[in-house]
Amino acid sequence: IWKELQERYKKEMNFVSYNTWVDTAKPLSFQDNQLIIEVPSELHKNYWEKNLAGQILETGYLLNGEELFPTFMTPEEADVYQKKKEPQAVQPEQAEEVPSKAMLNPKYTFDTFVIGKGNQMAHAAALVVAEDPGSIYNPLFFYGGVGLGKTHLMHAIGHQMLQKRPNARIKYVSSENFTNDFINSIKRKEMEEFRNEYRTVDLLLVDDIQFLVNKEGTQEEFFNTFEELYLNNKQIVLTSDRLPNEIPTLPERLVSRFAWGLSVDITPPDLETRTAILRKKAEAENLEIPDDTLSYIAGQIDSNIRELEGALVRVQAFAAMRNVDITTSLAAEALKALKSTHHLNQVSILHIQEEVAKYYHIPLKDLKGKKRVKSIVVPRQIAMFLSRELTDNSLPKIGAEFGGKDHTTVIHAHEKIQHLLQSDAILQNEVAEIKQIILG
Ligand code: ADP
Ligand code: MG
Repeated sequence: IWKELQERYKKEMNFVSYNTWVDTAKPLSFQDNQLIIEVPSELHKNYWEKNLAGQILETGYLLNGEELFPTFMTPEEADVYQKKKEPQAVQPEQAEEVPSKAMLNPKYTFDTFVIGKGNQMAHAAALVVAEDPGSIYNPLFFYGGVGLGKTHLMHAIGHQMLQKRPNARIKYVSSENFTNDFINSIKRKEMEEFRNEYRTVDLLLVDDIQFLVNKEGTQEEFFNTFEELYLNNKQIVLTSDRLPNEIPTLPERLVSRFAWGLSVDITPPDLETRTAILRKKAEAENLEIPDDTLSYIAGQIDSNIRELEGALVRVQAFAAMRNVDITTSLAAEALKALKSTHHLNQVSILHIQEEVAKYYHIPLKDLKGKKRVKSIVVPRQIAMFLSRELTDNSLPKIGAEFGGKDHTTVIHAHEKIQHLLQSDAILQNEVAEIKQIILG
């Protein structure tokens, strides 16, 4: 299965990213759909969790029709894990005692969060809520672009609260996992457990609420969970890439509930903040990097902090490979390859949808909609195909951007177009033309 995964990543990633991220990882064990993978550093681990884990789930689906659950470990964690495993003295009860803590990323604390112009409001609100949960800003809603620190702040609130109240019950969940959890509970007839888990917490953190789809009444369940927690003065924190009223799949009553609290946006960091973030990461990783090199790297990547971290890892890997110190010219060389692929990451699904709709002279609304006429279905599938090819978005995300479709619909569209492209020269031409328009 690891081979298969490697092949898939190889196809999707450029050579340098592949070498940096995938080639350095090694599978440790595979049992009961649990795949444990060792990666060289905490940064690698974050990158895997954030950007590559989706593919593992999908591959599992395609190969076995079942989800695969990856766990990433740094070498130190892997050591501990191996030692634990050997004597066969695993005590599941013990592990279950601290479930809420385990869901929070230990790196995402207030201490590691750098405050800058774009996030100071959000940071301040997060502090208030962590100190005094459930009383002032409820719910607290963070919105802003990808990789700007929404998830980080959310976890920081959790950590802070646990520090003051070690027994506080905290639940962090992405809206996708909330949906999956809910649907699985229905299937297994374990609704009571589900409600016990979600409705008895002191702090509920729900990430990326824009992906909350209404499968089997998920939104209804979420609404009721929200109500119950809210009425009991339990704190709720939510994130999204945009304001609640701009999320098309979100029902009105949820939008209006969210307006009861405080919404704060996070905007991209300025150069100074980006440099400070890099400095902090470099310190945490014990890297020696001159200040001018740090600000050089910060100058190369101007929007997304996750990419900024990726750039740092790349520079680090580059220096390690050549066994030299990190300097500005080395950083420039290391980042050259990154820049040429950078625009790939910058293409948005919306941009693809707009261009495809324009190209085929159909309304954007229809492209994202449900109409089943061929003149719309094929362009829709092309747009899904291109979203898969030209962006890093996961299948569920792409599906969500197409009016809340299932990830299997996206897989199907992708396969269909891929198949058609092999024999249909006209379509080949069209897709090539659209690609050119999109990539400029
Ligand atoms: P989002 O949830 O908004 O997409 P994340 O919270 O996942 O973004 O942040 C992406 C990465 O950038 C994380 O590794 C996070 O630790 C880091 N990061 C974001 N903002 C900051 C900040 N202000 N200071 C330090 N690190 C940050
Ligand atoms: Mg996030």
